[in-house]
Amino acid sequence: MKQAQPNYPARWWKPLADGRIECDVCPRLCKLHDGQRGFCFVRQNIAGRMVLTTYGRSSGFCVDPIEKKPLNHFYPGTSVLSFGTAGCNLGCRFCQNWDISKAREFDKLAEEASPEAIAAAARRMGSRSVAFTYNDPVIFAEYAMDAADACRRAGVAAVAVTAGYMTEESRPEFYRHIDAANVDLKGFTEEFYHRQCYGELEPVLETLKYLRRQTGVWFEVTTLLIPGENDSEAEIERASDWFAANLGPDVPWHFTAFHPDYKMLDKQPTPPETLTRARAIARARGLRYVYTGNVHDREGGSTWCPGCGQRVIERDWFVIGEWGLKGNRCAHCGFEIAGRFDSRPGSWGGGRERVRLS
Ligand code: SF4
Repeated sequence: MKQAQPNYPARWWKPLADGRIECDVCPRLCKLHDGQRGFCFVRQNIAGRMVLTTYGRSSGFCVDPIEKKPLNHFYPGTSVLSFGTAGCNLGCRFCQNWDISKAREFDKLAEEASPEAIAAAARRMGSRSVAFTYNDPVIFAEYAMDAADACRRAGVAAVAVTAGYMTEESRPEFYRHIDAANVDLKGFTEEFYHRQCYGELEPVLETLKYLRRQTGVWFEVTTLLIPGENDSEAEIERASDWFAANLGPDVPWHFTAFHPDYKMLDKQPTPPETLTRARAIARARGLRYVYTGNVHDREGGSTWCPGCGQRVIERDWFVIGEWGLKGNRCAHCGFEIAGRFDSRPGSWGGGRERVRLS
């Protein structure tokens, strides 16, 4: 059983002619001298080899509704054992989890947890899946992949909540271990990614296309709408056109409300009408499953049958109400609803429960 290992051998790196080593996990391609850490802080050059410094340690475990990731078409109503580590490979000024993503050293990594212990805890809690979330699992991929394998052996699915900021080298192997993902599409201009996230849009679009075309991973997309930054009609129209052309009509898209946080305290929270308007634009472009999130909106939170227009899954915040599916088909007209469904919804409810593994 692999326990916490502060200098776990990392994957996806190469030596450079000048004596440094280059990390190829994400498009930053950090080039590190001996002892240096990458932008994400958790990958480090130790004596000429790349290591992951957070293997086997977590910032804590919670059981959440799967709808909170958000995933609305992946075993609705079930619970998901959720955890993160420390650090991040993006630098979003509006980060909603900055106490974890910006954590330095391991002051936040209170819990040791082997992959097998995580899988066993998920089983004990009756969780259908485990989610790597709160910070981006791409930067702790070796730990996430081992945990995903242990979960699969125990009959528990693996969920990645990620910004999709990866390279061609790391994408295929990482996603071979993953059953479902929620990918943040943070905006739809390179300028937004550059100015607000210290990153780039194009690799994220590549990840989304890769997931759609080359994997069987179930995935949904989330866009946090920030007033005056990424919420213009023109930008959402362009994003919707790209989405429809490259991902097709069946990939769910969540427009969620921003609240002022971290380095973006000067903006107002997103008005609910902004989310409703974005949802209408995307639906008008032919996207079938578009949701509003972080607000009370039964209309925008529920799933509607693209065939007959009837509601097939009622949601109030994270709680499932009326169920109008038979298997994966609309109970009214038989239209096949995209996603992964059990014959009945789970009964976790909307609550959150902290879990200690050690
Ligand atoms: S994963 Fe971390 S170390 Fe590697 S390139 Fe990205 S930010 Fe740099």
